Order: sequence, then structure tokens, then C-alpha cells
Amino acid sequence: MLHYAETHFRFPVSRLFRREPVILVDAPFQVCPELPCPVWLIIRNASRFPVYINEIYGEWENANGQSISFKLPIQKQFNGKFHFEELDFEKPQSYGIWSLKIFIKYEIDKKSKICERWNYPFLQPKPLMINFLKEPPPKPDGWLAGDAHCHSSYTSDSVEFGAAPEVLQKAAKSAGLDFFCITDHSYDLINAEKFKKLKNQIAELNSKSAPAIVIGEEISCGNSKEQNVHLLSFGNENYVEGHGDGGRRWWNTSPDLTIQKAIEKSGVFCFAAHPKIEMLNSEKILLKRGHWDFKDLTENKIHGIEFWNGFRGKDFYEGRNLWIKCLLAGYMFLPIGGNDAHGDLNCYTAVKRPLWSLKCNMEHVFGLVRTVIPSTEKNPFSEIPDNLYLTDGPALWLEKIDGKVTLHAKSTGDFGKFLSITVFRGERNENSNYEKKEEMQIDDSLNFDFEILLNNSLYVRAECETSCGKFALTSAMNVGKP
Ligand SMILES: [Zn+2]
Ligand SMILES: [Zn+2]
Repeated sequence: MLHYAETHFRFPVSRLFRREPVILVDAPFQVCPELPCPVWLIIRNASRFPVYINEIYGEWENANGQSISFKLPIQKQFNGKFHFEELDFEKPQSYGIWSLKIFIKYEIDKKSKICERWNYPFLQPKPLMINFLKEPPPKPDGWLAGDAHCHSSYTSDSVEFGAAPEVLQKAAKSAGLDFFCITDHSYDLINAEKFKKLKNQIAELNSKSAPAIVIGEEISCGNSKEQNVHLLSFGNENYVEGHGDGGRRWWNTSPDLTIQKAIEKSGVFCFAAHPKIEMLNSEKILLKRGHWDFKDLTENKIHGIEFWNGFRGKDFYEGRNLWIKCLLAGYMFLPIGGNDAHGDLNCYTAVKRPLWSLKCNMEHVFGLVRTVIPSTEKNPFSEIPDNLYLTDGPALWLEKIDGKVTLHAKSTGDFGKFLSITVFRGERNENSNYEKKEEMQIDDSLNFDFEILLNNSLYVRAECETSCGKFALTSAMNVGKP
């Protein structure tokens, strides 16, 4: 995946190359009530291309025609590899969606320039869109919401880079996360030393502030066809190598470890990352990247599948089908949701065609898709949750008390009324097991509790959708055995 786009890679020539550092402004896509809205000026590669920032100015606007203008003198020279400078200016005090148009006035090689939002070549500037929530995102008491897949500034290579862990932590807090997992690529972490450095930095951040950061890794390893696939590990003590598809070892793209070897080496619970991700042909051929299939999941000690990887595209539906196939075959994998954001706090910017063009969309925004798990005294994912749900808005969870199962659904004005709440049951069949679908009776209410009769199903699970296009799905509850 290619995120905060790095434009200094120019082999043999790049249309994107500029003798300037990457300059952009970023802020969380949503802010919970009573919490600050941090906005950062991000500069990368000023060590190669020093830059002087004169001032930053802009305007907030909402759909009611309200606006706030501001001007912020910076007058500072930047010379480092990475800068994440928090900008202090007036923020809106009323809830709802606000757009923020922002301009950066800078000087490089004695030339004065102005850019809007970023200086990415050939990429139309896009205002920041920030949803100031009226209520905190709904979730059951005592549960924790987290982003299970993101990258930090320890991912920093010729095509992409992430945000500093402390920036992610601050953004996560404002956006309403209780935890997040930093899962930098094994090929970007490079070695045990760099992993340890990140680990120490995270331990220090965790000792000082919330939300909790879980250190993990996105390990490149080999599937049954010896193609590189990605494996998420959470909380591993030690670095696990995996350089096959990192692009730094182009003469040898063979996986270093098989899936099972990587799981064993991590010593923790592991999840298949984006099992059906769409990729460029060049990734398949030059980096030998592949997909996870049924065999890769069921013949290795996998605990779950991250098929909701930031947005619901083709790969989400194919990944969900694969998950259901596993469930019907008796493999009770957990569904996992993350965003695979590299920074990308407000929208996702990335290389569209290498050396040629960039893109911006909402496919991988930090903290947008959440994995919500019951809280224990321990670190998230240091034990396997027996229940969870994934969401980009409403809460939807199954609860089993004394053998009685209830499905709860909860939304807020921020995320909209329910359009549908659907229960799926895994049913036995002599030829092949199948899923039976049942629509729940709903009205305009934002809260529902349904009693679910277990019948003789293998499992039950549920999904819902709201009028704002928000979606949630539960893990499958095993009811086959009493
Ligand atoms: Zn990946
Ligand atoms: Zn990733």
C-alpha cells in the first residue's frame, strides 16, 4: 500500500520529482465532543531541501454558511528529515462537518511560493473535512474501540511515509479511539534494532498518555504459492524478518519465512492482513505479491482476518466471502478492521502510477474503521477476544447471558438512523453448509435489542447499515454446541 506520498524517488526519471520537501497539513477526520482538534504541518525531507515557512492562513466553513478566517505567522526554518508541527489557531465551537481551506506560504532557494493544503505535484488541493461530533461514537460500556492496522514514521521509504507515533496518539484520542496498533512493515522496520527503538518510544508514550498503543508488525511472509502476503502480529516481543516484497531486495523477492514460521517466530496471535487486496500488476510481478486463500488460513494458526482494510471495496466483499466460507467449514476466525493508514488522518494521499501521478480519496483514513472489543485488564489482543464488532459508525454487538443471546444496535445523530439490521445464521446441510439471512423489524429508533433464538444453527452473526452509509458487522457467535 502506498500512503502519505513520497515524491523524491526518481529512478530513472520521475514526473513527480521536485527540489522541495513534501509539505502538507493534516488533522483528524472527526473530533469527539469536548476534545481538541489538533492540526499539523508536516514536512518531510527538509534535510535534503531546507525550507522557510513564512505563514499559514485559511478559512473554516460549514454548510450553514458560517466561517472563521485565521492567519498564523510561522517564520521558521525547517532542516530535518521529519517535522510534525502542531498549529495553533482558532477552531470551530459548534458541531457538524466543517471544511478547512488552508494555505502555506514558504520560501525555497530564495523563491517565494504558496500552496494550498500540500505541495504535491499534479494533485488538486482538497480542503480538510472535519466532523465535530455531537456525541461520542456509540459503543457498549466497558468496550474498547481501536484501529488494528496503521503505519508510523518508522515506515519511510522511497514511495511512502507515516506519521510520528505521538501524532497518531493525539489524533487517535480526538477521533475517539481507545487503542491502536502500529503495524509497520517488516521490510520497513528492517532489523531488530529499529523495531526495538519503536518499541521503546511506544512504551514511553504509553506511560505518559492515552490512548494505548499496541506495537505490532505487518510481516511479509510466504503463502502456499510462495507469494508474499501480509500478516498482522500484535504485541510481539521481538522483530520478525520479512523482506520479500519490500522492493529493497529486487533481485530476490522470495519470502523469508512461511506463514506458519512467521506466526511461530512472532510468539503472539496473528491475523491475515487484507486477504484479497487489489494490487497493480507490477506488484504481482516485480514484488511477487499474492493473496490469502482458504488453505493459507485454515492450515496455519491464524486467529482472524482483516478483510475490512479502510473501505468497503471489492476486496472487502471477497474477503468477507472467504471469512464466511471458513465459518461454514467450522473455522471460527475473528473479523478484524483497520485502515492501513500511513498518517492519512483526514484523507488518503498516495502514488497512483509510480513516478507519474498521485491520488487522494477516503480509502485508508486513520481511525475510521474500528475493531471494538470487550475490555480486559490486559493489553488489547494480548488475549483473543471471544466477541467483537467492526464499525465505521454504529455499535452492533451480540451478548450471551445464561444461554440467551441478544443483539444490540446503537447509533447516534452523527451516524444516522438504521436502514437495515440483518442476522445471518450458519445452517447445516448434508451437501454443504450455508448462511440464512433474516431482516430485523426496525423503525426510526437509534437503539434496538433483539432476542436471538439459537435454533440449531452453527453460528449467528449480524450486520447493519445506517442512512449516512455507515456500516457495522459482528464476529460470529458459536452456538452449535451447548
Ligand atoms: Zn499490507
Ligand atoms: Zn499496512
